[in-house]
Amino acid sequence: MTTIATLSALCDRLVGRPANAPPRRRAWMVLSLGLAALVVAVPVYSEDILSVLARSHASRIESLTSRQAHDERAAVLQRDFDRLLDRLPQRPRDVSLLVVEGPVIAETLAGRVVVVHAGLADANEGERLFVMAHELGHVAMGHWSELAGVYHKHIPGEVNQRDTDAVASVLGREASRLVHGHEFAADAFAWRTIRGLGYGMDNAAAVLHMMPNMGDTPSHPASRKRLAALRLIGNDETRSAVAETGN
Ligand SMILES: [Zn+2]
Repeated sequence: MTTIATLSALCDRLVGRPANAPPRRRAWMVLSLGLAALVVAVPVYSEDILSVLARSHASRIESLTSRQAHDERAAVLQRDFDRLLDRLPQRPRDVSLLVVEGPVIAETLAGRVVVVHAGLADANEGERLFVMAHELGHVAMGHWSELAGVYHKHIPGEVNQRDTDAVASVLGREASRLVHGHEFAADAFAWRTIRGLGYGMDNAAAVLHMMPNMGDTPSHPASRKRLAALRLIGNDETRSAVAETGN
């Protein structure tokens, strides 16, 4: 449920040239992804895509940290987050929660930092847990490294404008397919998690109704498809399916 309202189109590439930038740093690339918006300054000298992605997320984490909330709402959300972590069969390494005043609703950065808006604390408990369990699902299932792998497959060498232009559309399609799958998987993870805590489908439905995506976007399937997928999982499953999330 990444930056629901603000995500721009996947692989919407913009190239500009700041007049006062040194020549070797003039190429700029903006890639918007399902897992996070990337605003990347790409040096002309050798740097591979994994390093560019890591640097971009580190910079976004730093900028969001400046808007960190330190009030009772942050404490409520941190308690929810810790409760969810305690239920995971294996605690992901270095995972943390960052509660901010804006502009993010909920997203996961660098595959390990879950960012949520402080306003989420005003939602009811089941809804809060669904949103954060969804993000923790992205972390626990390694979605960030899978997406980075797709980028690396299409941009195996150093990043430069010519090569990224050449693969932008095919990379965009492949990444979009992958992140749609990630969204369904994270929803399923979240639903099984809150169901295991005794919450009903109405909590998941309420969250999905908060962001009524009428149609598919490059980063997210339509909300009605997401809800339909959850209803297919329903309340009854075999033990083996439930065991995937430890519930
Ligand atoms: Zn998501």
